[in-house]
Amino acid sequence: MSAADAVLKPDFAARRKHFIFTDEHEALRESIRAFVINELAPHAEEWEETTFPDWVFKRMGDLGFLGLDKPEAYGGQGGDYYSSLVLAEEIVHARSGGLAMGLAVQTDMAMPPILAFGTEEQKREWVVPAIAGDAILCLGITEPDAGSDVAGIKTRAVRDGDEYVINGSKTYITNGHRAHAIILVTKTDPDAGRRTTRTASDQARPDAERSSYEGFTLFLVPMDTPGVVREKKLEKLGMHASDTALLAFQDVRVPASAVLGQVGKGFYHIMWELQGERLIGAAGCVAGAQRVFDQTLQYATERTAFGRQIGKFQVTRHKFAEMATKIEAARQLVYTTAWRFAEGHYPVREISMAKLYAARVAVEVADECIQIHGGAGYMKEYGIERVWRDMRLNRIGAGTDEIMLDVIGRSYGL
Ligand SMILES: Cc1cc2nc3c(=O)[nH]c(=O)nc-3n(C[C@H](O)[C@H](O)[C@H](O)COP(=O)(O)OP(=O)(O)OC[C@H]3O[C@@H](n4cnc5c(N)ncnc54)[C@H](O)[C@@H]3O)c2cc1C
Repeated sequence: MSAADAVLKPDFAARRKHFIFTDEHEALRESIRAFVINELAPHAEEWEETTFPDWVFKRMGDLGFLGLDKPEAYGGQGGDYYSSLVLAEEIVHARSGGLAMGLAVQTDMAMPPILAFGTEEQKREWVVPAIAGDAILCLGITEPDAGSDVAGIKTRAVRDGDEYVINGSKTYITNGHRAHAIILVTKTDPDAGRRTTRTASDQARPDAERSSYEGFTLFLVPMDTPGVVREKKLEKLGMHASDTALLAFQDVRVPASAVLGQVGKGFYHIMWELQGERLIGAAGCVAGAQRVFDQTLQYATERTAFGRQIGKFQVTRHKFAEMATKIEAARQLVYTTAWRFAEGHYPVREISMAKLYAARVAVEVADECIQIHGGAGYMKEYGIERVWRDMRLNRIGAGTDEIMLDVIGRSYGL
């Protein structure tokens, strides 16, 4: 055999490491996966019934997994953004979408805005215990009458001396029943909303309109503040291991020091937060799709029909080929976008593309995997139907497919 033959022979089983990950990331990956498989996955079925217990936060805090990319000054590991990506990818081996979501709310949705916009006191009061797993956080944007249209929220915060008085409600709030504090999006200006203005320099271009979203303010509110009511535990199609709350805020008085970030700039703060939320969600979608693909590939080599492994039917082989190609394309989009995000860019268009595409791929793959399993795919015992139910949320939560398409379309000036 010539040297060229030896070099050119493909090795499909070879370990494939992406350039964004170092050997340290891979070592972290191994240790997270071992923990997830040994300590979390065995409870997956039970937690579908009970929701996952709070000790998971404490245990993961003790292991350092809740602060992988957070500053050491607040008890974090001081790692880079990719270490958070590793957690999002490995947590799928717990086989519990609800668990992954509850943890991501803590690490990638609630903590980042406190670190980015909070005062030193707010970071000490909430980020330090959140990283340790002693405090659980949630994020309140959505309301019964406003989800996609964030600017349409009605929760009001009115200044009264040194305090603010908050009234309103939030719904579909992940971790809402267990949380110790909520990041709350409010209106501090009663006329807040989308305003279209023209500046003097736009006069020559009558079509040049600028939208401004002033008058929204974020608050960091302890959930034991009088007037915060955890109204209802909501029942869902999937993500059963997470708790989802309807919350009411009735004359909730907080000091002015509870403002998170700048008064009036909350809309921009929360739009920044949503970028990290969407990107980490996209990474979870790719990893979840890969896991269910692998499980189904194994099944396709074991199950026989008409005297053959079902994976040997060309139609099945092509289903796997289609799925693998889409998963890989989604992965590359997520990784390249994550690289830009980690480099300090603000790649809103690409994050929207990654979120849209990865969520669609995850749902398509889960659906195809049910099909390849036949009747077994429809049975709870195989866990495939749960992946489909859990993944389905990703086309809705953190911005629907339609909103992602709109963000992408508008980014071209349309
Ligand atoms: C399990 C779960 C957990 C969640 N966790 C949280 C959480 O922790 N915190 C939080 O704040 N929120 C949370 N959400 C809320 C989630 O982000 C919203 O459900 C989502 O943003 C969509 O809002 P909506 O449900 O009000 O739908 P709507 O905005 O009412 O949309 C309904 C339909 O209209 C379409 N639509 C709306 N506007 C447009 C438009 N301009 N162009 C085209 N189509 C449009 C939508 O795409 C959708 O198909 C959660 C939701 C779920 C289901």
